[in-house]
Amino acid sequence: MKYDVIIIGAGPAGIFTALEMIKKQSSKKIVIVEKGCSISKRRCPKATTKKCVNCKPYCHITTGFSGAGAFSDGKLSLSSEVGGDLPSLIGVDKAEETIKYADSIYLEFGADPKVEGLNVGDKVKEIRKNAIKSGLKLVDCPIRHLGTEAAQEIYLKIENYLLEQGVEIRFDTVCKDIIVEDGTCKGVILANAKKQEEEETLEADDVVIATGRKGADWLEKVCERHDVAHQPGTVDIGVRVEVRNEIMEDVNNVLYESKLIGYPLPFKNKVRTFCQNPGGFVSQENYDNNLAIVNGHSYKKLKSENTNLAILCSHNFSEPFNQPIEYAKKVGELVNMLGNGQILVQRFGDILEGKRTWQDELNQSNVKPTMPDAIAGDITSAMPYRTMVNIINFIKAVDTVVPGFASNETLLYSPEIKFYSNRIKMDDEFTTNIQGLHCLGDSSGWTRGLMMASVMGVLMGRRLV
Ligand SMILES: Cc1cc2nc3c(=O)[nH]c(=O)nc-3n(C[C@H](O)[C@H](O)[C@H](O)COP(=O)(O)OP(=O)(O)OC[C@H]3O[C@@H](n4cnc5c(N)ncnc54)[C@H](O)[C@@H]3O)c2cc1C
Repeated sequence: MKYDVIIIGAGPAGIFTALEMIKKQSSKKIVIVEKGCSISKRRCPKATTKKCVNCKPYCHITTGFSGAGAFSDGKLSLSSEVGGDLPSLIGVDKAEETIKYADSIYLEFGADPKVEGLNVGDKVKEIRKNAIKSGLKLVDCPIRHLGTEAAQEIYLKIENYLLEQGVEIRFDTVCKDIIVEDGTCKGVILANAKKQEEEETLEADDVVIATGRKGADWLEKVCERHDVAHQPGTVDIGVRVEVRNEIMEDVNNVLYESKLIGYPLPFKNKVRTFCQNPGGFVSQENYDNNLAIVNGHSYKKLKSENTNLAILCSHNFSEPFNQPIEYAKKVGELVNMLGNGQILVQRFGDILEGKRTWQDELNQSNVKPTMPDAIAGDITSAMPYRTMVNIINFIKAVDTVVPGFASNETLLYSPEIKFYSNRIKMDDEFTTNIQGLHCLGDSSGWTRGLMMASVMGVLMGRRLV
């Protein structure tokens, strides 16, 4: 089968590539290959089982039309300062301009017109003053909150629109490899996601790989096999913190999401807050190798009594080590091992006292875990020393901005890991050293969020029209 454009992965990066081509009236033959299913069929059984049942052949939370975005909180960060390093590749002005454009498409498909966190007024000044006092930077980032349910409706409309416009979408299909001949990408090798032995070859002039965080590992192997130029990037390891809404109230009301960055002593590594979910729920994602990773989301209507957010610590490695994904996985596996395959949770006070947390002790707190199947235990027995010290010192600094944040009962879930590694070397038109091969979104190492992945898709679409 011959196409003009093959897109691997139906996350925001892949979807917006096709969407922009259609919007620019391209007559090219486009196929999107997606390991998971249509958004209308994506279901996480945990709502009924109350426990992650580790769905095979793929996890519905991260896989299927709209990618990791479907069940995500759907918080669109409307600032080029957030969501990855794409601005350093394409320029800040172009990034800002395309954020506005991609945002207008989300609005066109039904996103809530309200923008949160415009960071104005005396209360923000007070928050910023306290952040400065404790050596933290408060990043300004307006946010459009889609909410998990609304995000699913928006992406369903986009899926239907693409199909109506003649884009072919092959669900339950996994890309196993790309075909490279004489430095040019000629196509891809596909298999049925359920029956991997049945292979098929597709050819195209342009192949766009947008396989998301879950596909970063696979893409690294593809790069090694076909000499696609890449470099090891950063990997973020951290925890998901959960406190009562009362603790975060001021920040939640004024900013919705407080994006704080610090470089705590003694290591001075970058530590930051990420993905804050007021009234949200701590959730779990499972990777193909059974790695259980903690995350968080919030619904537009259903609210919990807690706020959760990630605290992430960036890890950069230098010679001779260049396998950040493997390093982070080993950390995750160790934490999982202590939790018998489940997410571990520990109270901040217990960490400071050097003891594990017991289930009974969790029941004594004001804050009730929104992930009931998390195992009370000792995350410090598995987390690297440097990471743990960074997190502890950062939490203490945040306590100046958010009094009560460093309370004894504050919950730390682990492992929270963001695999952004393996940054693909590309020009500002997203062409790799292999002709006809382009890499987008989180798997390319250039983005870390819905909006930036969408922006990369828009720009790719314009280039391929
Ligand atoms: C629980 C959760 C909450 C989040 N909340 C937010 C948020 O509020 N705001 C925000 O900005 N970001 C959030 N994120 C991150 C955001 O979802 C991602 O940054 C974004 O989806 C990246 O887009 P992408 O297109 O690069 O990849 P993805 O969305 O990951 O999509 C990649 C797609 O490729 C498919 N795929 C992978 N490998 C293959 C293969 N070999 N063959 C075929 N298909 C393949 C996958 O099934 C997937 O559907 C969240 C993520 C999670 C998991």
